[in-house]
Amino acid sequence: MKICIHRGTKEIGGTCIEVESQGKHIVLDIGLPLDAPEDEESQKNLLPEVAGFEKQDDSLLGALISHSHIDHYGLASKIKNKNIPVWIGEGAHNIMRAAVPYVPNGFAFDAPNFLKNRQLFDLGPFRITPYLVDHSAFDAYAFLIEADGKSVFYSADFRAHGRKSYLFKNLLANPPSNIDVLLMEGTTIGRLKTMKGFKSEQELEEEFYQAFNKTEGLHFVWTSTQNIDRIVTIFKAAKRAKRLLIIDLYLAEVLKATGHEKIPQSDWCEVKVYIPQLQRVFIKKNKLFSNRDQHKKYRIYPQKLIELSKKSVMIFRPRSMHDKGIINSLDGAALTYSMWEGYLKQDSSLKVLDWLQKNNIPQDIIHTSGHASVVDLKKFAEALNPNRLVPIHTFEPEKYNEHFSNVQYHQDGQWWDV
Ligand SMILES: [Zn+2]
Ligand SMILES: [Zn+2]
Repeated sequence: MKICIHRGTKEIGGTCIEVESQGKHIVLDIGLPLDAPEDEESQKNLLPEVAGFEKQDDSLLGALISHSHIDHYGLASKIKNKNIPVWIGEGAHNIMRAAVPYVPNGFAFDAPNFLKNRQLFDLGPFRITPYLVDHSAFDAYAFLIEADGKSVFYSADFRAHGRKSYLFKNLLANPPSNIDVLLMEGTTIGRLKTMKGFKSEQELEEEFYQAFNKTEGLHFVWTSTQNIDRIVTIFKAAKRAKRLLIIDLYLAEVLKATGHEKIPQSDWCEVKVYIPQLQRVFIKKNKLFSNRDQHKKYRIYPQKLIELSKKSVMIFRPRSMHDKGIINSLDGAALTYSMWEGYLKQDSSLKVLDWLQKNNIPQDIIHTSGHASVVDLKKFAEALNPNRLVPIHTFEPEKYNEHFSNVQYHQDGQWWDV
């Protein structure tokens, strides 16, 4: 078995790995680099050179997509050959499909195959076992790839402090054995606090609860629509604080797409749907009437929003901050930022910070990483005990040696034997 990391040996994002055995090959993730230019043509040029991407090549058996973060699937839409079989989690696929009309350059795979936790399958010479992992993306997987008597484990993105931390514990208690190569992510290596471990989603729930209790008016939380773990955390804290959770149509659709009975939905009595003016225009323009009508019974309108504001938590969208209903509900409001702090420094965030200041809205930050701390990465590496550990999805590959044994370095685009 041979491996080529097309991209990812020294960067976070844009991950793409090709694995070859007996003249056949598969691809793990087809991500968009985080610093990719926005125009489609330039993005096309970033697509790794893989036989079968440009035109049909029977040696390419398929692509496995670990999860629905753009840095793991974002270049897939640029592939000319549309006949490559794809495997992805069903929940991840449904979320991508639900998001298509609501996000710029929305994309979903056409009729993919679905991964199931620990249900192995054969693809030519490869035996593949997907492992459901705890990550900030819903329905995310790591992969064990076996061929030619060798074993490779690709961690993809994972953590141990989310709402599915039991998955991490289970893997540690019963790890796959005889791993020749572990391709392990190291997103948080070199980041602050990573040596001590990160706060759990449960701890965040308590912090949100305290924050909601202190706020007199509407409490906004600025977070990612597709971070389902975080939405659940916010919902639970809001419920404890006896507040409703107010969501928009995009989030209502994403929650529905999870198909998960324990994840809050628009028809739960503690949830309401508020569709801001800009989203109403958007619905009309894109004819999303059936989407809208499915949540009709649970909708509230501007007057009701004002009435409920002191007893609610609203998921904040920067583009809706000038909505009239929202503007009229700001009495005693507060905002909690709940994403990576780096985004706050971007130009697009300045407008929001300005808006908060002008409206005298106090703000705080409650967040935890979607990725494992170094403490947990060490436990993971020790449990899998690979012959060689290869850095991937990191800006600090040279630091792996300080934390892990048997580290082996490779360059992007270089082929090497397992
Ligand atoms: Zn990633
Ligand atoms: Zn991710």
